Amino acid sequence: MSVKFLDLHAQYQSIKQDIDAAVLNVLASSQYVLGPEVEAFEREFAAVQGAAEAVAVNSGTSALHVALLAAGIGAGDEVITVPMTFTATGAAVAYTGARPVFVDVDPDSFTMDPAEVEARITPRTRAIIPVHLYGQPADMAPLMAIAEKHGLLVIEDAAQAHLGEVDGRKVGGIGHVAAFSFYPGKNLGAYGEAGIATTNDAELARKMRLFRDWGQERKYHHKMVAYNYRMDAIQGAILRVKLRHLEAWTEARRRVAARYQDRLANLGVRPASEAGGRRHVYHVFSIFHPRRDELQEFLAERQIQSGKHYPVPLHLQEAFADLGHREGDFPVSERVAREQLSLPIYPEMSDEDVDAVCDAVADWIGRTGN
Ligand SMILES: *Cc1c(COP(=O)(O)O)cnc(C)c1O
Repeated sequence: MSVKFLDLHAQYQSIKQDIDAAVLNVLASSQYVLGPEVEAFEREFAAVQGAAEAVAVNSGTSALHVALLAAGIGAGDEVITVPMTFTATGAAVAYTGARPVFVDVDPDSFTMDPAEVEARITPRTRAIIPVHLYGQPADMAPLMAIAEKHGLLVIEDAAQAHLGEVDGRKVGGIGHVAAFSFYPGKNLGAYGEAGIATTNDAELARKMRLFRDWGQERKYHHKMVAYNYRMDAIQGAILRVKLRHLEAWTEARRRVAARYQDRLANLGVRPASEAGGRRHVYHVFSIFHPRRDELQEFLAERQIQSGKHYPVPLHLQEAFADLGHREGDFPVSERVAREQLSLPIYPEMSDEDVDAVCDAVADWIGRTGN
């Protein structure tokens, strides 16, 4: 028996007819970039995330970039974010010429620790980017309060957290603007690269539309030097089909997570948990152990795939060496990097597969002790 980390094929098989029809429809339409399918997807996605507007782009990274550009962030500015994230969060800040300023994550939710933020604010600070890591939304209420007090913009990195909620409100409509990814492995995945930015601010939305499409509202009239970040119509049509299943898929992920939590309790591997008032959508299901690498090898011998998210925090990446950080600067993030292991999780995962993973983890613990 083998267990895959995720199974995109199983999902495609379950919706193949609708996907194939949607793609063929686009091929026959001759409208391959933006257009009616993408516009319809923008409206539908904004509605499910509780935001007034959505601006479809070609990746989650581009969504972060246009959000920062629309906010007027650039050289000389500082943007507060976390080091425990995918590199895109820091890279998007750096693209604008601004400087990422890190604060550590909270040791239970692994999202930005609001208690650490105010000490990092300077006269150059313009924005805060909390990351809804692994699908667990960040602690938004204190972050919004700090932002309001200091006149800062909050950009949610919601790349891993479609349909996540804080106090009954969906992510994507809580901060001033939010960025989602539709990379194939994300909770809502395209069949290629895609992303979207959501906001309740009409002016930010207008500017983001300019930055994604060459700075033009009228063809060949360019208000600024901008980008080609437009979403393909094929991806828009595919995402419209998949969006209809997202709530059911999210509940299926939560059922897999609940089974893991139940079966892995008291084994000494500390399974991920949901913080109070938040709806965790389990893009990743984490466990933690000081001998994580040994456990991963043991699982691999049993044909069970697993991952690490992420083994090197941003402040220790060569790409961000110019920020001048050292080991020890963000101890919680560094501990996550050393001890976190991502177990297989996807909506179509069977109970038998979850049990096989749990049995293997229990077996390893039994052989090696805690
Ligand atoms: C995937 C991801 C991104 C980037 O999205 P792409 O679509 O791959 O460009 C940004 N932030 C986080 C936290 C991500 O997981």
